[in-house]
Amino acid sequence: MSTQHVIADAPVYMFNRTAEIMSRKELQALQLSRLKNTVERAYNKVPHYKKKLDTAGVKPSDLKSLADLARFPFTTKADLRDNYPFGLFAVPRDQLLRLHASSGTTGKPTVVGYTQGDLNLWSDLMARCLACMGAKPGDIVHNAYGYGLFTGGLGAHYGAERLGCTVVPISGGMTERQVALIQDFKPDILCATPSYALNMAEVAEKMGVDLARSSLRIGMFGAEPWSDALRGELEAKLGIKAVDIYGLSEIMGPGVACECSVQSGLHGWEDHFLFETVDPETLEPVAPGQPGELVITTLTKEALPMIRYRTRDITRLSTTPCACGRTHVRIMRVTGRNDDMLIIRGVNVYPSQLEAVLVGFPGIAPHYQIALTREGALDEVTLEVELAPDFVGDPFHKANEVTHHIKSMIGVTCGVVTKQPGEVPRSQGKAVRVKDLRGKPQ
Ligand SMILES: [Zn+2]
Repeated sequence: MSTQHVIADAPVYMFNRTAEIMSRKELQALQLSRLKNTVERAYNKVPHYKKKLDTAGVKPSDLKSLADLARFPFTTKADLRDNYPFGLFAVPRDQLLRLHASSGTTGKPTVVGYTQGDLNLWSDLMARCLACMGAKPGDIVHNAYGYGLFTGGLGAHYGAERLGCTVVPISGGMTERQVALIQDFKPDILCATPSYALNMAEVAEKMGVDLARSSLRIGMFGAEPWSDALRGELEAKLGIKAVDIYGLSEIMGPGVACECSVQSGLHGWEDHFLFETVDPETLEPVAPGQPGELVITTLTKEALPMIRYRTRDITRLSTTPCACGRTHVRIMRVTGRNDDMLIIRGVNVYPSQLEAVLVGFPGIAPHYQIALTREGALDEVTLEVELAPDFVGDPFHKANEVTHHIKSMIGVTCGVVTKQPGEVPRSQGKAVRVKDLRGKPQ
């Protein structure tokens, strides 16, 4: 497949032009035929799906149109846990070439598996994403995503190789060495979590290295929600275009969707995934363009077909044409995951909203943590912010200023405490934004 892609004489380079500019009508026809196959196969090969569909009173032959999918039951993380470790696979275990797992905060991890076909697809779609954000064959990719059971490292690795890039598989950590290798190897693309990229920029600064003047051109950032404010910060500090990539291991890993150079929503690859948005309370489909929980059905996955998987991510979908020429749906940047949502005095707040207020605030560094404590029956939220290295003045007044700013921007009152420069822990991969101290001695 990789050698078949068309490099047309056009201003925008695409890894698989034929697929990426397919008309919406063709896309939907392709989706329907692939959806029927997927549901049929899941029903026949996975006892869990058979039971679930039977209980809901639907069968694969009920799918006459894409809209009919709304009658089918959802799949959630709990279904993966209940069938731990291999119960949801639609192929015999010996046809799996690889397993990945995400660490659950409670109990068993979520296990996912891939056939040869799944791994090929993943590499192709990651290559598509990299090209979509402006990477080209021959670029050097500094891959600082963690390698291992987490899908980020290997996902980006094989996708970059598939595109024809030179990969530096450095993984996370040992940040000073990362900065030194960026100077020596002169990479074009940085792959990392946004919080780790911020850590790298800070470490470089301390080493006297200005990464804004490095060879880096594009940053591919994902695996945690991040704000446009942080995007601006990363673009300035690293001298790059900072691009959002989206994915989740249950569906494939990174590469389900990504931003193009227009940076206005992430193209979700609809020839391989079906995207819906539903009201997280009623579970009814929301009107096009309205915010809702993103629900994804895989259309070509072999080992682990997913029917209507509830991602917990709140977003909006847009099918209006994109300036880049790609026809695939745009998933607006995810501000937060339902599970991460904080309720501060009755108001729903995502950590990334607090981040957006903090980044660029005078006298404050873009590092923060949110501490949850319990006072009697009430949950208390305290925002721990870090003073900028060059801060002079009264930290207590600065904390008050931040409190007022949050109140005026988001409408909630939360306690703010200031920390000295360097006191807020730095990300080595996935940032720990929320410290849950409820039930722990203070
Ligand atoms: Zn686009």
